Amino acid sequence: MTPRIVRPHARLTAAWVILCAWSVAPLHAQAAPNITTPKQAIGFNLGDDYMMASYTQLETLWKKWDSESDRMTLVSIGQTEEGRPQYMAIITSPENQKHLDRYRQIAAQLAHAEGLTDEQARALAREGRAVVWIDGGLHASETVGSQQIMETVYQMVSRTDPETMRFLDDDVLLAVQANPDGQEMVAGWYMRETDLTKRSLFDMPRLYNKYIGHDNNRDFFISNMAETTNMNRVMFLEWFPQIVYNHHQPGFGATGGVIFMPPFRDPFNYHFDPLIPLEIEQVGAPYQAFILEDLAPRYNVAPSQSVPIVVAHNGGRQLVMARWGFHPVWMKTSTLAPINAKAETVATSRMFQAAVKHHRCLVPADGFYEWKPVPGQRRKQPYYLRLKGGGLFAFAGLYTPTDARAGAPATCTIITTTPNDLVASIHNRMPVILERDDESRWTDAHVTDPATVLPCLRPLPAQRMEGYPVSTLVSSPGTEGPRLVRPVSQ
Ligand SMILES: [Zn+2]
Repeated sequence: MTPRIVRPHARLTAAWVILCAWSVAPLHAQAAPNITTPKQAIGFNLGDDYMMASYTQLETLWKKWDSESDRMTLVSIGQTEEGRPQYMAIITSPENQKHLDRYRQIAAQLAHAEGLTDEQARALAREGRAVVWIDGGLHASETVGSQQIMETVYQMVSRTDPETMRFLDDDVLLAVQANPDGQEMVAGWYMRETDLTKRSLFDMPRLYNKYIGHDNNRDFFISNMAETTNMNRVMFLEWFPQIVYNHHQPGFGATGGVIFMPPFRDPFNYHFDPLIPLEIEQVGAPYQAFILEDLAPRYNVAPSQSVPIVVAHNGGRQLVMARWGFHPVWMKTSTLAPINAKAETVATSRMFQAAVKHHRCLVPADGFYEWKPVPGQRRKQPYYLRLKGGGLFAFAGLYTPTDARAGAPATCTIITTTPNDLVASIHNRMPVILERDDESRWTDAHVTDPATVLPCLRPLPAQRMEGYPVSTLVSSPGTEGPRLVRPVSQ
């Protein structure tokens, strides 16, 4: 279950702003390759409503693209339990394709780490390519997986944007359908209805992996099944990918589609080497950031989620993503990461005193919620508070920077103070909203004396703010959307 934390300041809304602009020069000037689209080959786009491609169609597409693209090598890694070839698309730049054996050998040498000096290992890391395994469709009813692996291969062989070209230069992608039999069954079951609206994944009368069905993920420790044996051989005897992504999502019984992606919430399995969860976070954090950087407005940010913060950087400022909940590397992982710090004690607190000197940040937002007790009731009434007329402002925050060596993501906390008269009628604390003129002082890296910056931490005057009651929907983590900040009558 999801921990549910509802407390003052536990939600904020934010208008994400991009504070920096960059230009990307194409790494290669390349004409778009002539690649058959899924629609041309099988009659629909992958991901179209009411359509699901079968493994037979995957085979059609992958063989076609293999013949059309010099970025792709198609191999079978063995037979499935029902006797189908289990395909793996090896995708990398045409130049890298010529040296696949060498890159495989380097990945193996680095994985075994035997008989190598540090220097040799570093030289191999420079020469090699990152081997990235992405599979899809293991749990065949989690249907995004089998469709995304086809779409991913299509995009990698057809796109020419700078990012794709960099992926192709830097990486060797191993794209694998993890359960071909299951895809064939589930797609066949789903598509059996000609009336689109009657198509449903429910009630399929067979296990979608021979003997074990949904337990095919549990098979990876013992490798009873042909598919598992094929994949384990490729991963742990042949290719040694540095990144393994095994797709899961809530199945068809769940409401809505949620795809799991790190960073994950604590607790981790502490029997693992600490580098494992931390490196998983390192890989996942940019993806989560990319999604957030699509900059959909957020209306209900909960603790442990990523928020953009503004920090001092090389004499200027930089927008970075940070996890909300202050978590220095020295802090025990079992300790709750504080989402707030009190202005009155921040300079003397063991937790925050170093950050007040060296790691102050802005947390941009355009509003926050506070909950007011309702006499005679257990429920509290949420209020939305913002600048009068609305607009972007910055909370005063503290952060821990990303620690690349420890693999720890940046984290942050928001400073609170005594409330102004407006907020006092709702709650006994309020977050510090910085005066515009104080924002540069607060983020000035040359200022390390708390006495210089503590005066910034005061309540914004009540006459510059406004607040109104909003729907109690905001009390549920995960609810989102502009309806959360619409006024409601009490
Ligand atoms: Zn699953």
